[in-house]
Amino acid sequence: MKEIKVKKKKKLYEGKAKIVYETENEELLIQEFKDDATAFDGKKKGKIKEKGAFNNQISGRLFTFLESYHVPTHFVSQFSANAMVIKRLEMIPVEVVMRNVATGSLVKRYGVKDGTELDHPIIEFYLKDDAKHDPMINEDHVIAFGHADADEIKLIKRYAQKINAVLQSFFFRRDMVLVDFKLEFGRGKSGKIKLGDEISPDTCRLWDVQSGEKLDKDRFRQDLGKVEEAYREVHRRVFS
Ligand code: UDP
Repeated sequence: MKEIKVKKKKKLYEGKAKIVYETENEELLIQEFKDDATAFDGKKKGKIKEKGAFNNQISGRLFTFLESYHVPTHFVSQFSANAMVIKRLEMIPVEVVMRNVATGSLVKRYGVKDGTELDHPIIEFYLKDDAKHDPMINEDHVIAFGHADADEIKLIKRYAQKINAVLQSFFFRRDMVLVDFKLEFGRGKSGKIKLGDEISPDTCRLWDVQSGEKLDKDRFRQDLGKVEEAYREVHRRVFS
């Protein structure tokens, strides 16, 4: 792995689960993962021991794996147990959700039976706007509101589909079903679309292939217990 030495400078942004810092290098940032967990629009709050470190390391591993399949990401290198060096991106305020199995909001919205394997993966877009509770939008909204142009959306969809295919088999080999997940994209220095944010049990639903046991943030959302254990188990399998 590339050894990039940078120093943590001013805090640039703090969200619910991560803090982003500037470095002495204009183009590089440090993304630090917190143990804080929130759900239901921030109404439920808690802490999951070691989540920051697990999510940082899981995300780093998955970004590296995706890069080997020519998916450009913001990942540069690990910085510490719970932080990574990333490329500065101009983020597109759209959450891209990919689904392989019906659950969560898909079941609530359309009445599909929970756990139904989808014949075709579904891609959805949500506007990143907490005050408006992240409303679902479509490609035309994204373009009309000026968040991305038609070529960018086409590329984002292509990357999301590729990421889904690559990660589905990555997780399946480790006895997990990739049920659904959320991605965020941005533009790098030269305007090139890259994957940003994180891919972790905070942003994916992962079910054990044999038992169907949930190994992700749903354990926290639904008070299922053994929350920290689930993150630790995903970490163990991702590095096996
Ligand atoms: N997701 C996320 N952040 C969000 C909303 C959703 O990471 O703000 C992820 C979530 O973990 C799941 C997928 O996107 O893996 C689909 O979530 P869904 O729309 O079913 O929402 P939920 O049921 O969590 O409200």
